[in-house]
Amino acid sequence: MEIIDSHTHWGPSVSMGTEVTTEELLRQAEQINVNRIVIFPFPSTALADEEINERLLDEAKRLKKFIPYYYISETMKPIPEGKGFYGGKWHWMQGISDCSSNYQVLEDAKLIKFIEASEKTDLPIVFEEEFSFTESFVRKTKNLKIIIPHLGMLGGNPIDFLSAFKTRENVYFDTALASSGTIMRFIEKIGHERILFGSDIPFGTMKWELEKVLSLSINDDKKEWILSKNLKRLIRWE
Ligand SMILES: [Zn+2]
Repeated sequence: MEIIDSHTHWGPSVSMGTEVTTEELLRQAEQINVNRIVIFPFPSTALADEEINERLLDEAKRLKKFIPYYYISETMKPIPEGKGFYGGKWHWMQGISDCSSNYQVLEDAKLIKFIEASEKTDLPIVFEEEFSFTESFVRKTKNLKIIIPHLGMLGGNPIDFLSAFKTRENVYFDTALASSGTIMRFIEKIGHERILFGSDIPFGTMKWELEKVLSLSINDDKKEWILSKNLKRLIRWE
C-alpha cells in the first residue's frame, strides 16, 4: 500500500530555533515505509524571508520523495504556476498563529484576486485559521481545494468544522494530531474521500500518526484512500 504523509514541516524554524532536516524526515519515513512526504516551510521562517520557498523547492527537486508546497506570504501571493509546487500553505494570515485570525483580511481586495488565481491553478491549500474566519473564507470560494489540518483542532472545535463543511466537496481534512475517535466521527459523517493522513512533524511523529490511521475500524481500501489516493487525486499526481 502506498503511503504519503500530507503534512510535514521542513527546514529551519526561526521562532523555535530548531530545524527539521531532510535526513530526519527520511529516517522517519524509512522506519515505517512511507513513500512520499509533503513538505512546507515553518511559518516564522517564511515570514522572515520568502526565499525559503525556493530552497524547499530545490530540495524537492533533488529528492524525489518530497512533494513541495508553497508558503503563502502575508501579501497573499498565489502559488506560482509552472515552478513545481503541488500545493500551498495558508497560515493565520496577518493574524496570530494558533490563536487569532485577522478578520480584516476578509475585506482585503487582494483576497478575491487570490481566490480567483488559486481556483485557476487548482492546487490544494492547507488552510489554518479560526473556525469563523474559515467559514467566511470558504463561502467566498467555488471550487478552491482547501485542506483543514488537524480536523480543525487548532482553529476551534472539530465538530463545528465538520457540521459547517460536511456538504462542501472542496473542503478536505488532515488527521495530524487528531484523536482516533474524532477521525472516525468525520469518516462516518462525510466518508473517507476527503480525509488525508498527515503527521505534522516535528509536532507529531510519522510512526504514531500512521499507526493511528492503520488502527481505525475501516477496511483497507478506505485506509488506502486516506493514506495516499485522496492526496494523489488532489495534487493530480501521475
Ligand atoms: Zn503543521
